Amino acid sequence: MTKEVVIIGGGIAGIYVLRTLLARKSDVEEEMDFTVLKREESGWVSVCGLPFALRGWYEIDKTEINKPQFFLDQGVDFRTENEVAKLNLEENNVVLKTGEEINYDYLVIATGRKQSVEETELGGVYTFHNEDDARKIEAALNVEGVKSAYIRGRGIIGLQAAAAFSTRGLKTTVHGGPPSLLPSSLDPDMGDMVKERMEKAGIRFILDSREITAIKGHEGRVKSVVIGEKEAEEIPADIVIIGKWMLPEVDLARDAGVGIGESGGIVTDRAMHVKRGRGHITNVYALGDCTEVVDAITHRPRLNQLASTAVTQATVIADNILSDIGEQSGLYSPCEFCFGPTVADVGGVLMGSVGVTSEAASRAGIKTISGKATKLVKARYFPGATPLTLKLIFDAYTKKLIGAQMVGEATVAERVNELGVAIRAGITAEELRNMERCYDPSQALLVDVTIDAATKALGITPVY
Ligand SMILES: Cc1cc2nc3c(=O)[nH]c(=O)nc-3n(C[C@H](O)[C@H](O)[C@H](O)COP(=O)(O)OP(=O)(O)OC[C@H]3O[C@@H](n4cnc5c(N)ncnc54)[C@H](O)[C@@H]3O)c2cc1C
Repeated sequence: MTKEVVIIGGGIAGIYVLRTLLARKSDVEEEMDFTVLKREESGWVSVCGLPFALRGWYEIDKTEINKPQFFLDQGVDFRTENEVAKLNLEENNVVLKTGEEINYDYLVIATGRKQSVEETELGGVYTFHNEDDARKIEAALNVEGVKSAYIRGRGIIGLQAAAAFSTRGLKTTVHGGPPSLLPSSLDPDMGDMVKERMEKAGIRFILDSREITAIKGHEGRVKSVVIGEKEAEEIPADIVIIGKWMLPEVDLARDAGVGIGESGGIVTDRAMHVKRGRGHITNVYALGDCTEVVDAITHRPRLNQLASTAVTQATVIADNILSDIGEQSGLYSPCEFCFGPTVADVGGVLMGSVGVTSEAASRAGIKTISGKATKLVKARYFPGATPLTLKLIFDAYTKKLIGAQMVGEATVAERVNELGVAIRAGITAEELRNMERCYDPSQALLVDVTIDAATKALGITPVY
C-alpha cells in the first residue's frame, strides 16, 4: 500500500527530508507519496546564501536552488503559500487553514523559527529570516537617501546583515545584550576579536541590556530607534532589522500535545520521534530550528538552529522512515548528540566554533583549562599567510578536548570539522599536542597553532 509522507515546512529541514526520501525511495518496495506544505511561494532556497546576496556578491534569485516545479515534476504534492492550522495526531491527519484535511502515514514537523517582527506600521523595519525578507531589505537598500541601519541582535545573522549594510556604505549600528558578540559560540575574549575587526570596518556596537523603547518615523518610513528609558539614546536608522531569531515555531505542535522542552523547542528522542505524554509517537518526526538538541558535552537540552544540524537530522529521519516501511530494522539510525560545529563569514572575518564555550561548561559544572594562541596559517613568506587565533578548551580533570573557537581569515571551516572529530573521539590535550601534523610551507606551518594552544592549556611554554 502507498505510504503518505506529509512534511510541514519547506525550509532546509523539510526539504532535506524530502530530497533524501526521493533519492532513496527505490530502497523499499512500497510506493511513497509526498506532500510538502509551506507558507512561502518559493521552492528550495539556500537562506544561508542570502546575507552574501545583500553584500552584492550575487542576485537573491540565485539562492533559489530548485523552483516548486522541480518537485512537482517528481510527483511531489508541493504546496506553496499554504498554512497548516491544526494537527490531529489521533486521526493521523493535518488540517489546512482552508479546512482541507490531509492524511498521513508519516508526519514530519519542520516548522523552523518564528518569523514575526515587532508591530510597526513603518516601512523599513524587517526581520531577516528568508528570501522574502531579503528582497524587502534589498529594495530598502535601493531607496534614495538610505544612509543608516540599526540591527537588534549580536548573533551570526545580525552580524552578517551588518557586514552587508556596511559594505554597501550604510552607517551601521549593531545592538545586543552584554557582554560580547556571538555568546553561544565564542567566549568574550574571542567575541571581542570579531568586534574589533568589524569596528575597523566602521560598524558601531552597543552591547548592553537596554531595550528598544520607540521606533520613530517620517512619512511612513523608519528614521530612528530609541533604546533605553533613563539613559535613552536615539540611533538614526533608515533600515531596522529586528529578529526573534531564536524562537522556535512550535505552536502547531504544542496545540497538538507534543512535548516542548525547556529551551522552547520540540523534544524528540534520538530517532527524532516527537514526545507526547510519557511516550514518543513513532510515525511523527520533528527536526530543524523548531526542535531542541541534546548537547554532546553538557548533556543538557538546548537550541542549535543551524542548517548543518537540520541536514544530519534529516538523514536520521529518512533512515528511520525507510527502515519502517521496508521493515529493515538494521537501518534504523539514531541522531548524534550535538557538537554544534559553526562557521561564519562576518564581513571578511571568519569565526568558527565547536563543542562548548567556557561559560556553557561552567554553567554545566564542568571545570575547564584552556589555551589560546595566534599564528599564521602558512609560512610567513607565502602570499595569503594570514593570522588565526585558536582557543582550545579542555575538561580540567580528564584533559579531554571539549571546545574550540577561532577567529581568522582562512582555514577556519576545516579546523572546526577536524576539532569536532577530535572532541567526538575524546582526544586529550597531551594527545593533541604530541600528534604529528602534515607540513608544506605553502599550506601549513611546521608547528601549527593547534599544537601551541594545546601546549599552553597544559601550562607549558610553546616553542615559537
Ligand atoms: C540569513 C541566514 C543565514 C544563515 N546562515 C547559516 C549558515 O551559514 N550555516 C548554517 O548552518 N545555518 C545558517 N542559518 C541557519 C539555517 O538557515 C537554519 O537553521 C535553517 O534554515 C533552518 O531550517 P528549517 O527548515 O528548520 O526552518 P525554516 O527555514 O524556518 O523553515 C520553516 C518552514 O516551515 C514553514 N511553516 C512554519 N509553520 C507553518 C505552518 N503552520 N504551515 C505551513 N508551513 C509552515 C515555513 O513556511 C518554512 O517553509 C542561517 C539562517 C539565516 C536566516
